[in-house]
Parts: sequence; structure tokens; C-alpha cells
Amino acid sequence: MSFQIDLARVREHGVVGAGGAGFPTHVKLEASGVDTVIVNAAECEPLLHKDKELLKRHADDLMEVLDAVVRHTGAERGVIGIKDKYTQVIEMLRQRVKPGLEVHLLKDFYPAGDEFLLVHAVTGRVIPPGKIPLAVNALVSNVETLLNVFWDQPVTRKYLTVAGAVREPVTLRVPIGTSFRACLDLAGGDIAEGPFAILEGGVMMGKLIEDLDTPVTKTTGGLIVLPLDHDLVVRRRRPQKVIDQIGRSACDQCSFCTELCPRYLLGHPIEPHLAMRNLGFHEAGDRMILGTQFCCECNLCTLYACPEDLDPKNACVQSKGVLRQKEISWPKDEIESQEWTAHEMESYRHIPLTKLMSRLGLDRFRNVGPLIEAVPARQPLTLPLKQHLGAPGTARVKAGDTVQEGQVLANVEEGQLGVPLHSPLAGKILSVSDVIVLEPA
Ligand code: SF4
Ligand code: SF4
Repeated sequence: MSFQIDLARVREHGVVGAGGAGFPTHVKLEASGVDTVIVNAAECEPLLHKDKELLKRHADDLMEVLDAVVRHTGAERGVIGIKDKYTQVIEMLRQRVKPGLEVHLLKDFYPAGDEFLLVHAVTGRVIPPGKIPLAVNALVSNVETLLNVFWDQPVTRKYLTVAGAVREPVTLRVPIGTSFRACLDLAGGDIAEGPFAILEGGVMMGKLIEDLDTPVTKTTGGLIVLPLDHDLVVRRRRPQKVIDQIGRSACDQCSFCTELCPRYLLGHPIEPHLAMRNLGFHEAGDRMILGTQFCCECNLCTLYACPEDLDPKNACVQSKGVLRQKEISWPKDEIESQEWTAHEMESYRHIPLTKLMSRLGLDRFRNVGPLIEAVPARQPLTLPLKQHLGAPGTARVKAGDTVQEGQVLANVEEGQLGVPLHSPLAGKILSVSDVIVLEPA
């Protein structure tokens, strides 16, 4: 019998978007009016390849669940968006493709996996600024999230790539709550080059992490290890005051940052060079910076486009904060009344991943690695109560309790947006605060 989507079970099993903000999947799957379901297998961040590894092993499962989501939503198309360079995986998918499903080939550029760009590539439609794919009748989900729906059991494991300055780049499947330190050990440890830092989530959009006790959560997609003196780390450690001072004095308003901005090229009213100009004048509220609220923080303007090594992305992030504080936003009626179309140069200004990797000084790191399933040596797991968008969970256990693998440890209150958190392993609860610490048996 064909697999059926059961929203109550998807919620009960704690399924959330396995990358990004962790939006609860049962809510996303409630969508109506969808005509296209898209699996985001683009994985455009340099050095990350967990989706490719997952597809190599679980292509049949992905086809089953995509077929089920298409039937559940009443969509006409089910599409897997994947980079054209993954020829072996594409061949596997094509051999298994079910009627009504398609494999859509994407060029190898950054950020091909941005939802807005992906929907445009697959459907030709532009999602209006500030909206979600549903606004153009599309539903997008990533590979791991959909597999979690199909596997129909509590989400207690996470797939993540560990790459960069490590001895053996890998994709791991580990219990949620495992420390970054343990993940690094499973990748053979860092390459002995002195002090290092981790970019969690990728080199372009990831967060700088210097505490190796940070735990893997339901949304951790990858750990990229880089020496502390690598430009990508140095730039992220730069104090805000210094970023602003350099930006004010050195920006010549060439507007390259805008000309290469993927969202500007989709036709959205975002122009990062104006946010840079505004650094010196603080005209928040002026239409000059209003468009910064549509910045997706892809970092392409800062890490690739700007010839002066300035930080227009940061200027956009700051402007967004000011706009939020002042409760100023782009008029809704202007967004809704307009027909949004991409810039005529959109398809000509994609940045190839190879070029981006060279620019970022990443060529020397291996861009491959096998998938291994691992339970690190017995050590406490740290489980934050909030691993999803919405309300944090409330603990359902207390220190000293013995728990079984898959048991609910925390849940949101009735009616709140969120999902339960399950115990990744059997063991004993050591402490409960805004995180639950579990000692495996
Ligand atoms: S931030 Fe850089 S790319 Fe943008 S306008 Fe200024 S100098 Fe040009
Ligand atoms: S980070 Fe820069 S390039 Fe990316 S969307 Fe924002 S302004 Fe555009």
C-alpha cells in the first residue's frame, strides 16, 4: 500500500525543517492550493553534501514520500531540484522516478538552494518579496525533512557534514545532542594548524562557533572547520564598530553588491549599496533602506561581490533591525498589487560554486566524504528545549528520571506552534533547565 501522510504523526514524531529555522513540518504540510511540491536537494553551500549522500542511500524512500506529499496536497507536480553535477545520483533518481514526479537539474551556483531561486528555476514564478512559496502555489521541503516524515518514527538522529580543516571529511548520522567536539573526533579531528573555529551551517550563511561543547540540534546541517586566521573567520570576528567605520569610509558606491544580489536579480526591491550609503546617514524609514527587509542574508554581496572587502550584508542586517524596531515595512498593498518578474540579467549573473570556492580560499579542502552512522563513545547529550520555530518545549522529565530511547522529553503547550522533543538514547536525566542533559545508559 502507498505511504500516506498523517499530519498528527508528523507532529507527534517531532519533525521540523532539517535546515534553517526548523519550521514544524506538520504545519507546512497543511498547505492548500499547492500545484507544485519541490524537494530542495540543491545544497549550494560550499563543502556540504549530506543531501547527496542521503539520496545515494535513500532514493526509493524519497520517491515514496514525495509521491505521498503530492497526493496529500493535491499538487500536479512533484519535483526534485538537484545540481546537474551529481550525475550518478541523478541517474539513480531517474531510474526510480514515479509517474507525475520529475527530476529538475539545477546549475552549480550559489545560492541555487535559496527557496526563492529554486521556485523560480522550477516554476518560472517569482515569490513576491517577504512572502513564502505558497504565495505562488509551491511547497518546498528539503531531503532530510521529507525522509523524517517517511521514516515515521521520533526524530532522534541528525545528518550533518563535517568538512574543512578536518582529517576525514564525512557526513555523519549522530544522536541529537551530540557535541560538536565528538563530531569533529568522528571526522578524524582538526588538521593540526593551530587554533580553529567552526562555521555551523556553512561558510556563507553559517554562524561562528568557538565553543566545542555546542550540541547538534534538529537543524544542524554541517560543521565547517577553519583555522582561526582564515579570512572567513577573521571577518566574522571583526567588531561591529570596525565594520561600520571601514564601510563608511571605503564604500565608493560602485553597486556591484546590488548588481550581483540574487534577490535583486529576482526583481525584489533590495539594493545593498543603499544600505551602505545609509551607514553614514541613518535615514532609517526612508525608502532607501526599506528593501533591506527582503535580504535573505546569503552573504554573496559581502564575500564575493564587493571589490573593497566591505560588509554590505551586515549593513542590511543592521537596517532590518532598525526597521523592525521602528515597525516600518514595505507597504503590503504595493507588494500584493505588483506582478513580480525577474531581472533580465538574472540567469547571466549566477556565481559558479567553483569560482566562489576559489575566492573564499576553500580550494585546498576536500569536497567529498562518505556517510557514516555513528553513536559516539558514551558521553552526555545536551538537548535544548527549543530546536524549532515557535514556542520552546516544556520539560516532561526531571533530574534523576530514567528514560527510554524515543520517549518524549519535552513538548509545547496545547495550541502553541512547535513539536515534541524525544530522547535520542536510553539513559538518565542529569539536569533540566532550558536544556536537558542526558547521560546515556
Ligand atoms: S559595498 Fe562594496 S560593492 Fe557595494 S557599493 Fe560599496 S564598494 Fe561597491
Ligand atoms: S546578503 Fe547581500 S546578496 Fe544576499 S540577499 Fe542580502 S543584500 Fe542580497
